Amino acid sequence: MNEKMKEYGAKGSPIRYMWSRANEDKRENGEDNVFDFTLGNPSVPAPDALNEVLINLLKRKDDVSIHSYTPSSGITETRMAIADHLNKKYKANVSKDRVMVTVGAAASIAIGLNAVLNEGEEVLTFAPHFTEYFPWTEKAGGRLKEVGTNNRFLPDEALLRKAINRDTRVLLINSPNNPTGVFYDEEVIRMLARVLKEKSEEYGKPIYLFSDEPYRELLYVDKPYPFITKYYEYSMVGYSYSKSLSLPGERIGYLLTGENNPEKEELFSAMNGAARSLGFVCASSLFQKALPEVINLTSNIEEYRTNRDILLKGLCDIGYDCIVPEGAFYLFVKSLEEDAVAFAEEATKHHIYVVASDYFGVKGYVRVSYCVGRKTIVGSLAGFRELFDSYRR
Ligand code: PLP
Repeated sequence: MNEKMKEYGAKGSPIRYMWSRANEDKRENGEDNVFDFTLGNPSVPAPDALNEVLINLLKRKDDVSIHSYTPSSGITETRMAIADHLNKKYKANVSKDRVMVTVGAAASIAIGLNAVLNEGEEVLTFAPHFTEYFPWTEKAGGRLKEVGTNNRFLPDEALLRKAINRDTRVLLINSPNNPTGVFYDEEVIRMLARVLKEKSEEYGKPIYLFSDEPYRELLYVDKPYPFITKYYEYSMVGYSYSKSLSLPGERIGYLLTGENNPEKEELFSAMNGAARSLGFVCASSLFQKALPEVINLTSNIEEYRTNRDILLKGLCDIGYDCIVPEGAFYLFVKSLEEDAVAFAEEATKHHIYVVASDYFGVKGYVRVSYCVGRKTIVGSLAGFRELFDSYRR
């Protein structure tokens, strides 16, 4: 047995553990009496137009290509559609030749890290962060190092500068962020690009900026999304349609680098090598074929904004201290006791299931995933009040 894999398997995901507890509670006490805020599974359906496109594709009875292997980087028309969409939307400079269609953001990150990391090199990420960054970095031969943030969970220039050293190869960022919901605006991205450029020059090798963007479309502030390849040459973007089109089970996304990356050809070749060595043959041909026709659509993500508004107001009115989420579908709430794991456990007594921030690399908060039905949001507020009052007593 591989000890490391055994360890990952045995530990399992703390998020899924709380989710299974919520499911157990639902079986015992009924669906309507349990408030499960554990997973990041979209709660709004995929657009009808997408289902129509899929149905029409499936009606092409003699067309074997619907389900066949595709080139490993993806179907040319799909790669072109992605590049065109980004160039129009963000005035970016992306060529189809630098776009690889992947099995979701998870694969994009795993492939991107494997493509650039050498044994023992460091990947920096701001804490709190998505839990899976650990196994993906370690499998790629790297070491994940957490970097602190300011008191609103935004990158802090001094802390970043202090963390970078000779071994640093990648800064892995995620905005809008899971688990805090914070958004890195243009000013933040410019600062990151400036620091990375300086440090790359100092150490004589490029430090990559990897932007993990599954929540890019879920933005509730009226600010432009800073498309990373425009700000920093040595950058990669990992995107996913899991959240924006509500397709997490279909496993479709992409990985790309910009045209101004001086080593773009070498990098793309390494991305192909990494995908191959990780066993990713190609992304779903059916969804690759559907994508160009729905590339400008999203599912009804406005639902998440309404959920956010109700939950944020509800919890703040009760007295909870929350980080105002500017994107994604997570609310970061300050724990009412020092130990957030104990606080999340206490919440289960009120049939509320949330995830302690300890599993995301910081202490003292819980993550509330508000990609749930409106009924769950509204119905949970009484329980959140009782929980709050129980601490006041
Ligand atoms: N990155 C972050 C921050 C996520 O929250 C998730 C999924 O929840 C992923 C990556 C993986 O997404 P995908 O379903 O596209 O693999």
